[in-house]
Amino acid sequence: MKIILLGAPGAGKGTQASRIAGKYKLLHISTGDIFRANIKNGTEIGKIAKSYTDSGRLVPDEVTCEIVKDRLSWKDAGQGYMLDGFPRNLFQAQQLDKFADIDICLNIDVDESLLMDRICGRRMCACGESYHVSTLQGSETCAKCGGKLYQRPDDVPETVKTRLSTYKSQTAPLIEYYKSQGKLYSVTSGEGSPDDVFVQICAILDKFLND
Ligand code: ADP
Ligand code: ZN
Repeated sequence: MKIILLGAPGAGKGTQASRIAGKYKLLHISTGDIFRANIKNGTEIGKIAKSYTDSGRLVPDEVTCEIVKDRLSWKDAGQGYMLDGFPRNLFQAQQLDKFADIDICLNIDVDESLLMDRICGRRMCACGESYHVSTLQGSETCAKCGGKLYQRPDDVPETVKTRLSTYKSQTAPLIEYYKSQGKLYSVTSGEGSPDDVFVQICAILDKFLND
């Protein structure tokens, strides 16, 4: 099964991706995670990506497409995968169609008014867990592993504004793109709890697998 996860920043793609990966034994490929790892390790790709991720703009397509194309050519991707954060514009989607055969595009739809608060209030742990300040009661450590929580540098209001407008103008048109390919499945109550959203996603994926 080859899946694309689509949704605005703050829609909960990352949270759902780890659940999907666990239940369906799917390889999770997140371009955002790949860029953050490269930035942390000071690689050439990281040097290019930093100014874009810091300001909330898209990393140039040549760089991004090449990374994904390469990653999908590894042996472990042969059994299927879930793309999180790619494609993010029409050009990337068209490129992807040249080197991959996508089964499903899962679109997590969340009311726009919630996104700013969700992202700016988000706190991360190095273990992959994320929290919202409203539920932390002042705690700064991860309930799962005890790690120290931090805020992603691009989770600040100015950058989030740019990310949201980039999503609207460049990424949201992909909903129509995948609809016209007959591959779009929308999760319409993305405002619900992570558990509720996951139930909807499983219903879609189970149906696909059983058909
Ligand atoms: P979110 O979906 O919450 O905005 P991501 O972790 O997916 O966060 O992405 C973080 C940043 O990484 C983006 O703002 C962008 O700069 C860069 N990035 C991630 N995926 C892509 C992509 N497919 N094309 C270009 N840039 C990307
Ligand atoms: Zn943790």
